[in-house]
Amino acid sequence: MFSREVLVQQVVDNQNWDVIVIGGGATGLGVALDSVTRGFKTLLLEQSDFAKGTSSRSTKLVHGGVRYLAQGNIDLVKEALYERGLMLKNASHLIKNQSFIIPNYSWWDTILYTVGLKVYDLLAGKLSFGASIRISKKKTSKRLSTIQTKHLKGGVVYHDGQFDDARLAVNIAQTCIEQGATALNHFKVCKLLKTKEGKVSGVMAKDAEGGVEYQLNAKVVINATGVFTDEILQMDKFDAKNTVRPSQGIHLVLDRSFLPGDDAIMIPKTTDGRVLFLVPWHNRVVVGTTDTLLDSHSLEPKPLEKEIDFILETANAYLNKTVSRSDVLSIFAGLRPLAAPKDASEKTKEISRSHKIIVSESGLMTITGGKWTTYRRMAQDTINKAIALGKLSHKNCRTKDLRIHGADGSAEATNHLYIYGTDQKAIELLIADTPELAEKLHPRLEFLKAEVVWAVTNEMARTVEDVLARRVRILFLDAKAAQEVAPYVAHVLAQYLNKPQTWESAQIKEFTQLANQYII
Ligand SMILES: Cc1cc2nc3c(=O)[nH]c(=O)nc-3n(C[C@H](O)[C@H](O)[C@H](O)COP(=O)(O)OP(=O)(O)OC[C@H]3O[C@@H](n4cnc5c(N)ncnc54)[C@H](O)[C@@H]3O)c2cc1C
Repeated sequence: MFSREVLVQQVVDNQNWDVIVIGGGATGLGVALDSVTRGFKTLLLEQSDFAKGTSSRSTKLVHGGVRYLAQGNIDLVKEALYERGLMLKNASHLIKNQSFIIPNYSWWDTILYTVGLKVYDLLAGKLSFGASIRISKKKTSKRLSTIQTKHLKGGVVYHDGQFDDARLAVNIAQTCIEQGATALNHFKVCKLLKTKEGKVSGVMAKDAEGGVEYQLNAKVVINATGVFTDEILQMDKFDAKNTVRPSQGIHLVLDRSFLPGDDAIMIPKTTDGRVLFLVPWHNRVVVGTTDTLLDSHSLEPKPLEKEIDFILETANAYLNKTVSRSDVLSIFAGLRPLAAPKDASEKTKEISRSHKIIVSESGLMTITGGKWTTYRRMAQDTINKAIALGKLSHKNCRTKDLRIHGADGSAEATNHLYIYGTDQKAIELLIADTPELAEKLHPRLEFLKAEVVWAVTNEMARTVEDVLARRVRILFLDAKAAQEVAPYVAHVLAQYLNKPQTWESAQIKEFTQLANQYII
């Protein structure tokens, strides 16, 4: 079902689609899933890999956003808390209930956050992840053994969700296909097709593997390309003004000894006015993030020195165990699309974290903004809008109770394979069949050789990077280890994809260079 040959053949056989979605991040995948489950013939095209962009580079939180609550954005928080509850139900294998502690260094903060988080609990209603409580200084320092205790007054515990972003994207792509859509990675949209009247009627897209170009028609084309939004808008109208300006957020990944307990830390007000999270993730700690305006975007944004310094300084102000550059196992950057200023007098401001749907004169639809947590709702609104515009026939949204591939409602983290949900058994069978596949990929990490085979045979991985960055997350967890296992992964891929030795060598070289950017 997930074979590339089969999926490409579907593109060859079907030139007419109801909906073509450009972009395979959280937004595009959500839209494709909403569309296909309503019964529309749906094609999703991703130029690189699913979640190659921002969607694999998040803080990994499924959250209402305590920060937006502080800004008084109640509707946004309420909507996200509702979606958080649905995500836990529908992708139970990938999302877990995570406790966070806000350490308080003044009595005023203790009162403020205790009251604020009670409001957060209330807004979650029935879908609450657990009541927030105030805890003493003694309990705070016991639960957070690495927290700075000088002047510490106590802490406030609250609950949010924590997830594996890229794996959820892959599982959503699989769900789309299971529901009857065609979803292809490494397939770039290079041009929009138009009618004589100037209405968008489809796309020209190129298969990055075979180099073949296809002309594909659709009733609706939806641009879900994140920070690449303007490239598509400029395909539509060459002189279209930029609507988006990228802002970069980076994360550092550290050894678990910097945060050994079960709780995450939330620092509500850093010196730049943002929040900073330290979150346990795959037996490591993710620390971030920043907010740095950039003038250009790319698929591989590079962390800036000042961002690295800022995160290290902030972490060191709150931890009693010194973090230095040599402790960083991996570093990654992601880009959020901010609304570009309309003229020089206007300051750049965030696209409201609630999403925005733009309908161009040509009929091209664009969905931008929002967050991972609200991907389902963004998709629902986008397809509803296409229906309201008369582009599609009326059909109700069906994603509220739709289980994502792998969800079985009983995620028990007995070993790290729990993240595969219902696929865990199939991986264990693979190991039973070929016991060498039970070997670890790398001695420092828990991932197994079987997972590489699974990624290439069942999860549409096509390159070493697809495997090591977004199927098993080694590039994000330990970039040096990722470089060390690249030759093995390239060899397995070459066998299964029937590629020559030259391809294998080129893959190792390309991946090693890429991984250098994740090492400081
Ligand atoms: C630093 C940071 C931390 C965040 N943390 C969180 C968090 O903890 N929780 C949360 O809920 N949200 C978080 N977010 C927000 C969330 O990550 C984003 O809202 C979400 O990932 C955006 O997804 P997207 O699909 O719109 O964009 P992207 O993931 O960037 O996807 C766009 C895709 O379009 C593809 N594309 C572009 N051009 C073409 C073309 N011509 N043809 C085909 N494909 C094309 C790209 O390759 C890319 O894969 C965070 C964001 C940032 C920047």
